[in-house]
Amino acid sequence: MSSPVRVRFAPSPTGYLHLGSARAALFNWLAARHMGGAFLLRIEDTDLDRSKPELIEVIYEGLRWLGLDWDEEPIHQSDRNDAHQAAVESLLASGHAYWSSPVAEADRENFGGRAYDPADRDRDLGPGEGRAVRFKVPETGATSWVDLIRGEISVEHEHIEDFVIRRADGSPTFFIANVTDDAFMEITHVIRGEDLINVTPKYLLLREALGIEGRPEFAHMPLIVNEQRKKLSKRRDDVSLMDYRDRGFLPEAMVNYLSMLGWGPSDGVEVRLNPLDLTDGFPPMFRIEDVSSSPAFFDVKKLLFINGEHLRALSPKEFSARSMPYIEAADWFERYSADPGAPARLAAILPEVQTRVETLSEVPGYVDFIFMEEPEIDEKSWNKAMVADAAGWLDKVIEAAAQWPWEAAELHERFMALAEELGANRRKFQAPVRVALTGRSVGPPLFESMVVMGRDEVLRRLRSARAELGG
Ligand code: GLU
Repeated sequence: MSSPVRVRFAPSPTGYLHLGSARAALFNWLAARHMGGAFLLRIEDTDLDRSKPELIEVIYEGLRWLGLDWDEEPIHQSDRNDAHQAAVESLLASGHAYWSSPVAEADRENFGGRAYDPADRDRDLGPGEGRAVRFKVPETGATSWVDLIRGEISVEHEHIEDFVIRRADGSPTFFIANVTDDAFMEITHVIRGEDLINVTPKYLLLREALGIEGRPEFAHMPLIVNEQRKKLSKRRDDVSLMDYRDRGFLPEAMVNYLSMLGWGPSDGVEVRLNPLDLTDGFPPMFRIEDVSSSPAFFDVKKLLFINGEHLRALSPKEFSARSMPYIEAADWFERYSADPGAPARLAAILPEVQTRVETLSEVPGYVDFIFMEEPEIDEKSWNKAMVADAAGWLDKVIEAAAQWPWEAAELHERFMALAEELGANRRKFQAPVRVALTGRSVGPPLFESMVVMGRDEVLRRLRSARAELGG
């Protein structure tokens, strides 16, 4: 085929962008950029309940967040009703389709369980109450294609029902709209999920009957499955792309990870890929033919790992900018914004956080103690840290810290020297101080945190914890 490559992403608005759809969009984008073609959008919104602008906006929002740019104006399928109706009419006129009366539920066993009577094919019924238009599937033969991912696929016509192309209410069905619009958009490669494999023989039969020349290439991408090897489902799994944004994943990590759902670089290097970078060779190495046909396991642990790698690759400034929306959502943000010194303290501690978190949503929980009036005490950490010697240790630290030079390395050294002097285990000696200051046993490094909090606040919290211990 010498015509220029044109692929499309054709989502139905459902109110969220499913991870599988996001991957379909990405693979189409990659295929287009790999082959130097166009990546087009078609919103399949013929179901009127689903054509609400806000449901469609979610799709654009997801694509923009991922950084997938598209070519040309998106097509809204609901604008193409006339073309879909014309296609139905032409199939009726050419004898490839027929009016079909509904068969009542109770009578279906007389028709091999079907909801229609195949004899309507020859009845020339014309329009009438409850009548749909069905496609006349040839009785013999088979339809085949060589799928770019799955190889040769062939379906015997006897296994395909005479499917509806226009419902009794006059609305064209998915089959006819999908075929008509792909032809209209001159799509050369249909890259979509394997759940649509059974649509493809119907698609090809329709296309031929409509007299559309040639046929596109097909690539049916593998199913995405969860840990139990079950298809990702809205009920069981977190399937909405934007939920991952809210959970603190970076779009570049999502794109990186989605690109590996069914595909992998031939050299096996699979961490921190940038599929969107047209200059570093990713699109040229992506070939749709190399996508595997086996189910792709959506491994959240691996995604977390990759996200962490992307977070650490950010410049400190960028990490801070990306963290801000999560900071702004924290319940102590009001206090933060009222304090002119707070941004500098945040900037000082963030580099310590950047090396430790896997998602941006963890950031506020790492730094909250600095900005809250009082640290939120985790009872378990407190009980574990406040051993019998803790009160005496805190007294010594309070006394000494008033004189210590307020710098992380210095603090570290003096602190450890004091532990030694008191014959205390270093880790155990640190624990009461950490819990007194931060409320927990894990967090950013203690001495850096102390510097950021300032001597006065550190002493105040240590005294308050000491008072709590009594005696
Ligand atoms: N609108 C269909 C869906 O969201 C996809 C159709 C296609 O890619 O051909 O499942």
